[in-house]
Amino acid sequence: MSAVPQPSADPAAILHQVYGYAAFRGPQQAIVEHVAAGGDALVLMPTGGGKSLCYQVPAIQRHRAGHGVTVVVSPLIALMHDQVGALEELGVHAAFLNSTLDGDEARRVERELLAGRLVMLYAAPERLLTPRFLAMLDSLHERGRLSLFAIDEAHCVSQWGHDFREDYLGLSALHERYADVPRLALTATADAHTRADMVERLALREARLFISSFDRPNIRYTIVEKDEPKQQLLRFLRDEHEGDAGIVYCQSRKKVEEIAAWLSAQGVAALPYHAGLDADVRRRHQDRFLREDGLVMVATIAFGMGIDKPDVRFVAHLDLPKNIEGYYQETGRAGRDGESADAWMAYGLADVVNQRRMIDEGEAEEEFKRLQRAKLDALLALAEAHDCRRVRLLAYFGEASEPCGNCDNCLHPPATWDATEAARKLLSCIYRFRQVTGLSFGAGHLIDVLRGKMTDKVRQFGHDQLSTWGIGADLPEAQWRSVLRQLVALGHVRSEGEFNTLVLTDSARDVLRGGVALQFKLPNEAPPRRGRVARGAGKAAKPPPLPLDDAAHARFDALKAWRGEVAREHNLPAYIVFHDAALAEMAREQPGSLAALGAISGVGAKKLEAYGEQILRVLADTA
Ligand code: ADP
Ligand code: ZN
Repeated sequence: MSAVPQPSADPAAILHQVYGYAAFRGPQQAIVEHVAAGGDALVLMPTGGGKSLCYQVPAIQRHRAGHGVTVVVSPLIALMHDQVGALEELGVHAAFLNSTLDGDEARRVERELLAGRLVMLYAAPERLLTPRFLAMLDSLHERGRLSLFAIDEAHCVSQWGHDFREDYLGLSALHERYADVPRLALTATADAHTRADMVERLALREARLFISSFDRPNIRYTIVEKDEPKQQLLRFLRDEHEGDAGIVYCQSRKKVEEIAAWLSAQGVAALPYHAGLDADVRRRHQDRFLREDGLVMVATIAFGMGIDKPDVRFVAHLDLPKNIEGYYQETGRAGRDGESADAWMAYGLADVVNQRRMIDEGEAEEEFKRLQRAKLDALLALAEAHDCRRVRLLAYFGEASEPCGNCDNCLHPPATWDATEAARKLLSCIYRFRQVTGLSFGAGHLIDVLRGKMTDKVRQFGHDQLSTWGIGADLPEAQWRSVLRQLVALGHVRSEGEFNTLVLTDSARDVLRGGVALQFKLPNEAPPRRGRVARGAGKAAKPPPLPLDDAAHARFDALKAWRGEVAREHNLPAYIVFHDAALAEMAREQPGSLAALGAISGVGAKKLEAYGEQILRVLADTA
């Protein structure tokens, strides 16, 4: 029969046939065409932007055209099994070589490689640069069967970030040894310094640079003032993310353990993850997070790079990250599938104080500390902003944009007030403490004095005699806290020493003299209940799909149960078999034939052949 389509070497056809996707996203097509034609490229694309297709499609295309294997370099050994599994599900022959394979398995992969059967081979850099491996590459190269190098997480070559891997430095050898083999380096890290390092150390001076917009329109940014953080978190989870998978970031290992235990006690399925746990426990928790539905991972930043689970519905921060780069990288792990997701952070005075202290007390050179402080200040300005968060985030990465309509400040513009006078009162109270007693005090006492509250401490120091005693009785305590926090964030007040006593900085003088007008955010009232985030909310995101009615929901659940069995059988995460979005579309559309099923996004030829009949049966049985 002639109905069987011949494998095509046209990128659009590959996208359609193999992946079941209708169109390339953003710059994917330009990248694919450039690389397939043998050009070098450096691709900067945000998490979830679709980097994998940028090397996979050319790899398939070039393999079909007889160029041989694409070698994918990645530091993420733990993910290689699933990445290869995902390709095999798509009918693309792939394998990996890393330290988790035993000798027999490794030799089998090597045989496949040398026979030219593999379309893609994933390898860790330390493996790639061994004499044994290079000899195999030499042999492939001599026969014209070495098609392409894809260097994933390319920012690992830079000492600038915190993901630096020594072995990545050796990758420049690829260029020296196989100058005619195209190379494609990919990363989600955008800053100029890292970019320069990648170009330099990977010898990519001739490479074409592809920079995507770093916007993640489907992520909704929310930053709330810390009040009772645990309760705030729980409310956020219950009101908006019941049963969803997500990550809660905390700064310390101890806090990770505490929050995970507390959430579990509240009936939220939560697991801890930090570098102090046994490697075994870490692996198990990561595995469960990837494979099971709706788990919450409470983690330090040790958990993250390469978590390519597409349906992480929220990332919550209970502590302030170090800078905007960190915040953006961590929140970027939400919503890789393009569906709506939340980036939620609770932030308070103590966070500012802690982060400042960590810099001050760190071992770094003064020059580096200055840089860290500037980066922290930019993050604080974001946290205190009353305008669009996304505009500020993107501006930080050098991208201009319009208010987004999908962040807390756009959705519920915060009330602001002229805090100039209040700020002067607060600053002069700190000044008087020092002037009269030669001592500094902490936030609690300061606010008591401003509000004229008689306490033991006030009596002990005779602070009811100060000229600033009670001058702030007109404002509630919460508002004073918020004024103080904003003054600390702006750098007019610093907190010092073991007891976090408050002192004025040089810039406070300008405020005291009345030379600076301050427009501050009013402290949160009861935050407006938003309900569950509608899938697909946000201006630039795709329109929300119709919600599933009861019957469709029953079909969706049946499909998920079926997918769960397949995933277990194949030892793969469920989303590799099909994304939720694909199952939801099947449940909604109820395709009655293989042809109709094949039209659904995410159903490529191989999956249609392997699972089509089963899916039609599940749908028929629940009709
Ligand atoms: P990144 O590595 O940049 O974080 P991925 O390559 O993991 O992103 O892609 C994110 C998700 O988007 C994946 O689930 C992928 O299947 C999907 N995707 C990528 N490109 C397309 C496309 N052109 N059409 C539909 N889905 C896509
Ligand atoms: Zn906005």
